[in-house]
Amino acid sequence: MTTQELIAASSKYLANTYARFPLVLVRGQGARIWDSDGKEYLDFVGGIAVDALGHCHPKMVEAIRAQAEQLIHISNLYHIEPQIRLAQLLVEHSFADRAFFCNSGAEANEAAIKLARKWAKDHWSSDRHEIIVMHHAFHGRTLATVTATGNPKYLHGFEPVVPGFKHVPYNDLKAVERAIDSRTCAVMVEPIQGEGGVNIPGDDYLPGLRRLCDEAGILLILDEVQSGMGRTGKLFAYEHWGAAPDIMTLAKALAGGAPIGAMLAREAVAQSFVPGTHASTFGGSPFVSAIARAVVRTMLEEDLPGNAARVGKYFLDRLSALKGKCPIVALARGKGLILGLQVTVPARDIVTACMRRGLLSLTAGDDVVRFVPPLIITEADVDAALTILEAALAEVAK
Ligand SMILES: *Cc1c(COP(=O)(O)O)cnc(C)c1O
Repeated sequence: MTTQELIAASSKYLANTYARFPLVLVRGQGARIWDSDGKEYLDFVGGIAVDALGHCHPKMVEAIRAQAEQLIHISNLYHIEPQIRLAQLLVEHSFADRAFFCNSGAEANEAAIKLARKWAKDHWSSDRHEIIVMHHAFHGRTLATVTATGNPKYLHGFEPVVPGFKHVPYNDLKAVERAIDSRTCAVMVEPIQGEGGVNIPGDDYLPGLRRLCDEAGILLILDEVQSGMGRTGKLFAYEHWGAAPDIMTLAKALAGGAPIGAMLAREAVAQSFVPGTHASTFGGSPFVSAIARAVVRTMLEEDLPGNAARVGKYFLDRLSALKGKCPIVALARGKGLILGLQVTVPARDIVTACMRRGLLSLTAGDDVVRFVPPLIITEADVDAALTILEAALAEVAK
């Protein structure tokens, strides 16, 4: 099929849930990707903060090949060696004592919400089931997680929503303090909001949330689906502020592009899950667990969080310098390799102009251009991206 025929078939046969760009991407290598017409792009989307090792990293390809020849799926009726080893690796590098594996970020958050409610039932006689969540959050698209997300655009038409969520402004400790009452069981928050606009909280925010949760005897749940796995310059974003949660969710980059989700918890909280309380058919399969383990080990061996910190700083400096130079640039912000450029025009116009010139980026909200490239990128890749971005900004500003 030609590219035009493929795009026509896409519109004909697929559920119409995405406003897709008119590209068919067919091959990738490192931070570069090629479309069906052979055109090359610099990939600063990385499958939306997923392809942390870049495309077709040899260690990931080797793990896939080796595990495919050994064992792909058996179910959680049995012990799964790669799953055990992955859990141990994550526990040894985080605050957590135990891991539960599933297949996506939304599912990881569902597990976190269920565990928080169950823990509250086990520990309090009163009905504590409410979870405080933030404006401009993103936690997923299942009924519970889209309710936690709270974006009216995503909820419209799907009511009734799941009860038990209370929304307060992000980065506002006083609002959380006021919202906590005898029905609250947890506070759930992204350490850095990704979809909501690359919003970075003040330095007192996460430690403040930790303190409020401790004072109220409730749980702190961190959604690190996007901010985790080295993205921000540390393996997990909470490390920047020394504010460890009780429950943390992971997905996106955890297996470098293979579908996986994980919920990690402290022992005292994890104990509320017992045989029968929660499950997933595919969760932690030998196949995906072996891939994730190879990805995480590679991240640690090659110090990709360190690379994200270094190259991210260089990238942010260069983006910040655009502010004086380009009238439609309002602000640059970021931490490690999650960066946002706030513009005074529709962000999608910039993304489209960059795409035509061979740079893939995406939006975060209506007025932020977001960059979440593979963690393996270099300063030279950033220079190449900036050349394209500057030309695209100039074109749109005209
Ligand atoms: C992407 C994302 C999710 C949802 O993950 P899915 O795998 O699409 O279900 C949840 N939380 C955050 C912070 C995310 O960025």
